[in-house]
Amino acid sequence: MSTSKSPSFDTLAVHAGREDFVKLGVHAPPLDLSTTYPVPDLDLGTASYDALAHGAANAPNPIYARLYNPTVARAENAVAALEGTEACVSFASGMAALSSLLTSIRANGARHVLAVRPIYGGTDTLVNSDAITGLEHDFIRADEVAAKLRPDTGLVIIETPANPTLDLIDIAAVVAAAGAVPVMVDSTFATPVLQNPATLGARYVMHSATKYLGGHGDVIAGMIACSEADAQPLRSIRALTGAILHPLGGYLIHRGLPTLALRVERAQANSIVLAERLSRHKAVARVFYPGLGTVANSHLVGSQMRGPGALISIELRGGHDAAAKTMKAVRVFTSAVSLGSVDSLIQHPMGLTHRLVSEEARAAAGITPGLLRLSIGIEDVEDLWADLEQSLADA
Ligand code: PLP
Repeated sequence: MSTSKSPSFDTLAVHAGREDFVKLGVHAPPLDLSTTYPVPDLDLGTASYDALAHGAANAPNPIYARLYNPTVARAENAVAALEGTEACVSFASGMAALSSLLTSIRANGARHVLAVRPIYGGTDTLVNSDAITGLEHDFIRADEVAAKLRPDTGLVIIETPANPTLDLIDIAAVVAAAGAVPVMVDSTFATPVLQNPATLGARYVMHSATKYLGGHGDVIAGMIACSEADAQPLRSIRALTGAILHPLGGYLIHRGLPTLALRVERAQANSIVLAERLSRHKAVARVFYPGLGTVANSHLVGSQMRGPGALISIELRGGHDAAAKTMKAVRVFTSAVSLGSVDSLIQHPMGLTHRLVSEEARAAAGITPGLLRLSIGIEDVEDLWADLEQSLADA
């Protein structure tokens, strides 16, 4: 691809990671399922092994699929292009990405992490498990970063928009407060369509690629976009621990990226309509949606975040029973955890995704018995509204 100016996001989404297709004589991403690769030249093989085991992005000989896979590497290169980073490292899941990053900062000598609540329940639980991570931790508010840093703090973890309250966090402010300590932004809810944390100074941009990057509910994956220097230790940890993304997962992510912006824009347009209507529904006490100005730092929509996104949380007046009834009544929505797929999903954070988070932390974050989180898909908005109206009728 050669154009006079740098390509726009939409063009990159279609073409990134496909630079070698003409040379290969293919039009679609080739799916390489090899577990091992021929090594006809031992010296070249040894040099390649050394390079890949130490985290090089590629080598003349791929050697073994735990060290390198071309299908996965193309998907990684595409996501790096969309995030505006030098590199991207993929993992077997979002949680594998996070645990590999924690391993990497511990291997680098850190003994402590900070995490701003609320965050995804799995992230909260892992950070809270010092015996698993080998790291001490503090859960903090975004404005406490500078005060809570320790000399051995190795990472500040934030998630914006936050799961499930959709609070926004000012990334540049956290990066400034963290000083030399790297900041990891879980940008799963925003996708690179709506925000690029690396351009605001975040060292690591993490995605549960299971969500919008995959986009069709058929792949579980995690990705960390970062500099090439930061990618190398992550790759060598991945090679050692085996937390690799299967090539079919890499293929599916790469296959879906050309429509990422279309999917996110359509789901967001639906969400803007639905959030407004939900805010006038008698069963709904509160709507959490950055586009309505009802979450922390909503003013960052339009600057840090290029749109309000496609996740909406609602607090039902009828509490847990109303939430359970609504989840049973939906017909177009599916009652299920996860998010970011083409289809709309509805779930109960207290009973499902944030089940292992302490009661105290859930209460502080506003994760109540009546809270439902909606991931809006790309269906017809009137069909979605009709489904919400009928399912909330008895709530
Ligand atoms: N981060 C966020 C914001 C999530 O919502 C999730 C999963 O729901 C994860 C991380 C973990 O990702 P995975 O389920 O791919 O391991």
